[in-house]
Amino acid sequence: MKWIFVGASTIASQHMIGAVRAQTGCDVTWVVSGSGDRTASWAQEHGIANHTASLDEALTDADAGAVYISSTNEKHHAQAMAAIAAGKHVLCEKPLGMTIAEAEEMVSAAKERGTVFATNHHLRCSGSHRAVRDLIQSGEIGDVLSVRIHHAVHLPENLQGWRINDASAGGGVIPDITVHDADVARFLLGEDPVDVVAQLAVSGMGEGVEDSCMSVWTMPSGAMVMSHESFTHPFAGSGLEVHGTKGSVFASGVMTQMPVGQITVRTGDGERDLPYSDHSLYVQGVADFMSAVAGTGTPAATGEDGIKSLAVALAVRDAAQSGQKVVVDYGAIR
Ligand code: NDP
Repeated sequence: MKWIFVGASTIASQHMIGAVRAQTGCDVTWVVSGSGDRTASWAQEHGIANHTASLDEALTDADAGAVYISSTNEKHHAQAMAAIAAGKHVLCEKPLGMTIAEAEEMVSAAKERGTVFATNHHLRCSGSHRAVRDLIQSGEIGDVLSVRIHHAVHLPENLQGWRINDASAGGGVIPDITVHDADVARFLLGEDPVDVVAQLAVSGMGEGVEDSCMSVWTMPSGAMVMSHESFTHPFAGSGLEVHGTKGSVFASGVMTQMPVGQITVRTGDGERDLPYSDHSLYVQGVADFMSAVAGTGTPAATGEDGIKSLAVALAVRDAAQSGQKVVVDYGAIR
């Protein structure tokens, strides 16, 4: 399958071009970007045959069956709607849109058109997160009481653009990282946060947007999730912990784009390492997407998953700004 890439972005060049080309019979044949001369050199650097500033021009290529959208966040909605209208399958970056209404419209349009629509939540594609989810489902740690997600990183200098200074482009740590953590909690526990309390901060990097956030979410089972995201923590590392009535899981270094980290399980029998597959997160995500296109599987994260992770992130921002507990509004898909 031939792919159109919308957005000459860092994530596309670092991970997604390779992830598409790792699939049998797949290649990236177009890049669509508004960045002028940079687009031509970007296409050349990555061996992409066609480049254009016009999404419509690329979408007229009947040989292209799939579109990957990794532009800045405020552009996702219009670009996805155009790609779906052209009958293309769409893998869209998180957050799907700026509002729940946008995200719902994208998912509904794909359903009506009969095309696959998926969200690129990479963490649920990792061997580490899948191993933790399987362990929880096995019952070994009993009923889950609480989850702690620590995802406070130091934003690399090359990404310190719109993320830290442009709310209208979807900047801020909440749309950037909290949205991923919402998906992680939903994926691990198989349930959706009910309500949230939160605080946000500007701790040295944000210019008009938050660069740090802490929040607590209540799950329908009664489990509590504590989540911490930041752009300003050079040495914090990352990880997640799941604490149950019969045991705890400590997964360190696993909130990352790479298949790395260490997982320890502690129960009444002592401690042991939890092994996991070290496959590429992004190759797995595209493989799952291609299974859905072939009709033999489902995307790792569906459009509905993207609506829900956005809903939690928006509730966290609302809670932080208002100082009130906020019930998560999942829109029509509740
Ligand atoms: P980048 O900042 O690298 O690129 C985003 C857009 O900014 C580009 O498509 C381009 O716009 C413009 N741009 C980038 N660099 C330049 C430049 N040097 N000169 C002019 N314009 C430039 O974005 P990211 O790769 O960091 O993020 C893109 C999307 O992917 C976001 O939605 C983000 O949330 C998501 N993301 C997801 C990840 C995941 O693991 N799932 C990880 C990282 C990001 P245009 O092409 O429109 O002209």
